[in-house]
Amino acid sequence: MQDPIPTTALPSGQTIPVLGQGTWHMGEKKTSAAEEAKCLRHGLDLGMTLIDTAEMYADGGAERIVAEAIRGRRNDAFLVSKVLPSNASRDGTIRACESSLKRLGTDHIDLYLLHWRGRYPLRETVEAFESLKQAGKIGAWGVSNFDPDDMEELLGVPDGGHVAANQVLYNLARRGIEYDLLKDSQSRGIPIMAYSPLDEGRLMRHPDLIHIAKAHQATVAQVALAFLIRNPGVIVIPKTGTQERVRENRATVEVHLTDDDLAILDRAFPPPGRKMPLEMI
Ligand code: NDP
Repeated sequence: MQDPIPTTALPSGQTIPVLGQGTWHMGEKKTSAAEEAKCLRHGLDLGMTLIDTAEMYADGGAERIVAEAIRGRRNDAFLVSKVLPSNASRDGTIRACESSLKRLGTDHIDLYLLHWRGRYPLRETVEAFESLKQAGKIGAWGVSNFDPDDMEELLGVPDGGHVAANQVLYNLARRGIEYDLLKDSQSRGIPIMAYSPLDEGRLMRHPDLIHIAKAHQATVAQVALAFLIRNPGVIVIPKTGTQERVRENRATVEVHLTDDDLAILDRAFPPPGRKMPLEMI
């Protein structure tokens, strides 16, 4: 019996698991869609109920794969999807959400995000988010790829303070250069949803990670994920298209890093505010 996946509270009141599953590149036919849906379903069976997707991923194909994965199990899943900035006008956001709902085969999305800042005024997008919330089509809304300036601007628009999360590039190797991503979000009480938590697979060969993983009889991926979720208010959404890795990522909650491990990792990877560029897609 595995430890349950811990949850954290969103400012909107919902609880969200701190370890979920990503879906970028799903539906691009690198792996069969059926196999990808099976992976997500396998994760759901193991308690990885948070699934992150977006209208952008494979032009809606990933959302259809998610629909297949959660068929008959909607109430077990915590669904996150995103509106493209080019659709994020007041009416466009509502239309985009309704299209996502159709593709996802559900009547509500638990957390709906603006994928990144675009040309539409934030006030319009927030109005649309609030009206979707009133209609019960989304449970909460948030943003993605927002830096502190974007966040300040958001907090200045009516109802902007209802933002529930900021999904950003955040992993051991990328914790922010111009500012400390974690500190900034914790000071505002807005959870970070860490995307590319495995740095898209690039962390796997790092000697310090390999060393720490061996000491815990764990894997490098588990150590990289455990490093992130030990922080209050950090949620990770690793993506995998293989069931074995779903099980591996799920077992991250069994890995508890020591202060010595953390000191080694802080020496090996640039701490926030230095060196590594903060990259946005
Ligand atoms: P990740 O850091 O999750 O890395 C995914 C890569 O790591 C894949 O190549 C996968 O390969 C591999 N991998 C997964 N698990 C393991 C493991 N246990 N051991 C070794 N390799 C592993 O990158 P993503 O960019 O996919 O980020 C995660 C999710 O975040 C996305 O899927 C998406 O939902 C979201 N995202 C959001 C963005 C935004 O702008 N808001 C931008 C980017 C991502 P394989 O599939 O072959 O197992």
